[in-house]
Amino acid sequence: MNVTYPHMGYLTIPVYNMLSNLGIKVIEAPPITKRTVELGSLYSPESVCLPYKITMGNFIESIEKGADTLLTVCGSGKCRLGFYNTVQKIALAEKKPLQLHTINISENVLVNLYRLLRTLAPNASRVSIAQNIAMTLKTLKALDKINDAKNHYGALTEDADMIINTYHRGMQQLGNCHTFREINETCQHIIGDMDTATTVLAPPPVKIGLIGEFYLLLEPYVNHQLEDSLIKQGVEVKKFVYTGDWAYSQAILHTLGLYNEETSYLKEARPYLNYHVGGDGLKSVGNALWCAKNQFDGIIHIYPFSCMPEVVAQYALKNIARDYNIPILSLSIDEHASDVGITTRIEAFVDCLKRK
Ligand code: SF4
Repeated sequence: MNVTYPHMGYLTIPVYNMLSNLGIKVIEAPPITKRTVELGSLYSPESVCLPYKITMGNFIESIEKGADTLLTVCGSGKCRLGFYNTVQKIALAEKKPLQLHTINISENVLVNLYRLLRTLAPNASRVSIAQNIAMTLKTLKALDKINDAKNHYGALTEDADMIINTYHRGMQQLGNCHTFREINETCQHIIGDMDTATTVLAPPPVKIGLIGEFYLLLEPYVNHQLEDSLIKQGVEVKKFVYTGDWAYSQAILHTLGLYNEETSYLKEARPYLNYHVGGDGLKSVGNALWCAKNQFDGIIHIYPFSCMPEVVAQYALKNIARDYNIPILSLSIDEHASDVGITTRIEAFVDCLKRK
């Protein structure tokens, strides 16, 4: 059994460790490239959203390397994510016999993950599975922290590239940690290095909130390195979606009945959006309203072309922009989006905000 899963930012670092530690043979998908996007698009319905096409490309490239067991997620609700697994399974089954395991993120993630690991690693002890899940969550939270620190210090320094390199070094080092203590120390060490390397000349002139669809916010290849591009222009970026935060709240807080994402964002989004519209639509509106009320200079809304929840959210976002006089740049991304096109629009937006 050769297991694989699609890329989504740094999520793959602790997932690889978790599966390998449990004795599961992992074949990682090659990093996302133009070929991944082209292959995925070739085997996908034309109008389906971009995350489907890219995860499809990841699967195809992993299958070429010998993978035969695919891991993915699905979620019930008003969004295409609920159908990814079934449709991809049918399309990929034409290539070779495959097994596809799905974690339903609308249900109890922790229990689903535990059951899946029991199936994939029948010889692993329960304690070992629990320990590996805990290490994965801990590593993800630490990765969130250094990502956040990169956005903070990167905007304050004249040499954002150095902070970005430190962040990449930190990701590698966190991937090699074996205990909670090592994770804490590495995280502190990396953030300390960023702090030392930062010479604060002046506060960042512009503060931008990044909102939008989960996958696009988390996968740098697909969002055209949006965060790095912004901090290199001296912009302080506030991101609301982090893999570790999400995994922790879904796996722990939601399981204990202490957190309900939908209810929490419904409160934040009112009165501009009063219903859950699927995907991250409600969250985008709630986060935009928060930015508007907290004196942000602008908002960038990024989403895949044809993503229904974000298109619905856009109507509410327009009203927020008008009522709070806050500029919002909408970036709709598909497989044809070019680096130059995105960069030009971002630079022009930042330039306008700085002049304002
Ligand atoms: S939120 Fe949008 S882009 Fe993401 S899976 Fe759902 S429909 Fe597709």
